[in-house]
Amino acid sequence: MKANSLRELYVKELQDLYDAENQIIKALPKMIDNASSEELQSALNEHLEVTREQAQRIQQIFSDMGQKLKAEKCKGLEGVIREGNDVLKDAEDDDVRDAAIIASAQKVEHYEMAAYGTVRTWAQLLGEDEAADLLQQTLDEEKEADQKLNQLAEEINIEAKEAAEGEEEEQPQRARPRKSGTRSRRVA
Ligand code: FE
Ligand code: ZN
Ligand code: FE
Repeated sequence: MKANSLRELYVKELQDLYDAENQIIKALPKMIDNASSEELQSALNEHLEVTREQAQRIQQIFSDMGQKLKAEKCKGLEGVIREGNDVLKDAEDDDVRDAAIIASAQKVEHYEMAAYGTVRTWAQLLGEDEAADLLQQTLDEEKEADQKLNQLAEEINIEAKEAAEGEEEEQPQRARPRKSGTRSRRVA
């Protein structure tokens, strides 16, 4: 679809976001299954419910405009999700995996925050006041989800860091290499 006006661009971006929300609805259950922290699981579960409502809001905007909604593949978010899945597969420690899940979930939220901020502003400019309100609601929810993840990361990142430290302790102690200038030399 070519976009020669801001309205067309707005419609195109909303279609893209509709696909983005649906990709997230598909991706979240996998992240929830892989999460070890119960708090993280419930935060993601909560956001899954919220995400379903966000997809419905876009449907509502289209029905209010009397326009048919056809999803446009969101390639940007597809990449963010795919990268997150790769990192998740590589994380073996539970806490490290949780930290990886938070990292990719926050990338998703920030992507959405950027996109919803834009379409909210365009809706205002185009006189689509009800749509602007709906989009603002979603934007607020994405920000809230991001803040919740920030909170969870505070503890989980530290646990992830300690996991690596525990591993180091199990390894045989190795003498630290010294800088040549500080090497103590025993004189016979
Ligand atoms: Fe969303
Ligand atoms: Zn997109
Ligand atoms: Fe979100």
